Amino acid sequence: MKKILVLSGKGGTGKTTISSALIKLYNINAFADCDVDAPNLHLLFNDFTDYEESNYFGLKKAVINQEKCILCGLCLEKCRFDAIKYDKRYSILLHDCEGCGVCEYVCPAQAISMNQYVNGYLRLYKNEVVFSTATLKMGSGTTGMLVTKVKKQLFDNVSEKEIACIIDGSPGIGCPVIASLSGVDYALLVTEPSISGISDLKRIVKVSKSFNTKIMVCINRYDENEEITNRIKEYCNEENIFVVGEIPFDSKVIEYLNMGKSFIDFDGKASIATKNMFEILIKNVGI
Ligand code: SF4
Ligand code: SF4
Repeated sequence: MKKILVLSGKGGTGKTTISSALIKLYNINAFADCDVDAPNLHLLFNDFTDYEESNYFGLKKAVINQEKCILCGLCLEKCRFDAIKYDKRYSILLHDCEGCGVCEYVCPAQAISMNQYVNGYLRLYKNEVVFSTATLKMGSGTTGMLVTKVKKQLFDNVSEKEIACIIDGSPGIGCPVIASLSGVDYALLVTEPSISGISDLKRIVKVSKSFNTKIMVCINRYDENEEITNRIKEYCNEENIFVVGEIPFDSKVIEYLNMGKSFIDFDGKASIATKNMFEILIKNVGI
C-alpha cells in the first residue's frame, strides 16, 4: 500500500480540498485526517455519520490532595512551567501543566499524584471505506502523539492489499507534521504563490527531506501571482523537486464546497488541471 501524505507549510492553500478530490476521483478506500487541531476532511464527505469513538489520553497532569498538603510551597518553587498557583492553598493550572512529574517527586507529604485526562477523541468510520480522524480538546497538547494514533488506527484497520491511502496532514512544520511524515512514501506539498507560501514551502521541504520522503509539489491558484509561481518552480528545480501540477484560481471551487460538493465532479479550469495533475501523480507513485 502506497502511503501518500498531503501537506502544506501553511493553512489556506487548499490542501484538504485537494486531498478530498484525490480520494473521490480514485475511490481511495483508506484515508485519515491528521489535522487534529482543526479536522475538516469529514465535512467534504456526506456519508460519515456512523463511527466508533474512543478517548485519547495524552500526558498525565498533576493533582494535589488538599488533605495531605502541608502548605510547604516546594511544588510551586520547583515547577518550571508556572503551573502551580497559591491562593490560600496550592492548586494546579491544568492547561499549563506539562506533566513532568517534578512536583510529585519533590512533595514531602506525597500529596501530589499524576492523573490521566481525556485530551481528545479518536474517531473511526469503517464500512466499505476506512476513515480515521480525531479531535483534540481545546488547550490540550501532545498533538504529535494523537496524530500517531490516528495513523495507527487507519493502518490497523486496512489491508496491506489496498493500493493506496491518503493522509491529510496538518499545516505548518510542527510536531503533528513530523508525526504525519513518519513512515509515509510520498508527500504532496500544496503551496500557493505568495511570499509566505514560498517561505513556508521551503520550510516544509526541509522537514520532509529529513524523512527521506519522496516529495512532489502542487502550486494551487498559480495564476494569482505568476512571478512568485516562477520563483517556486525555480526553487523546486534547484532542489530537484517535481512540480506535479499547477492549478488555476477558479471561483467555482468555493461555490461547490459551500454547497457540500466537490469541484472535481464538475468541469472547470481548476477541476481539469487537478485531474491532469492526479494522472501524473498516480503514474509517478505507480498505483
Ligand atoms: S507535573 Fe510538572 S508541569 Fe505539572 S505542575 Fe507538576 S512540576 Fe509543574
Ligand atoms: S509540595 Fe506537596 S505539601 Fe508542599 S505545597 Fe506542594 S502539594 Fe503541598
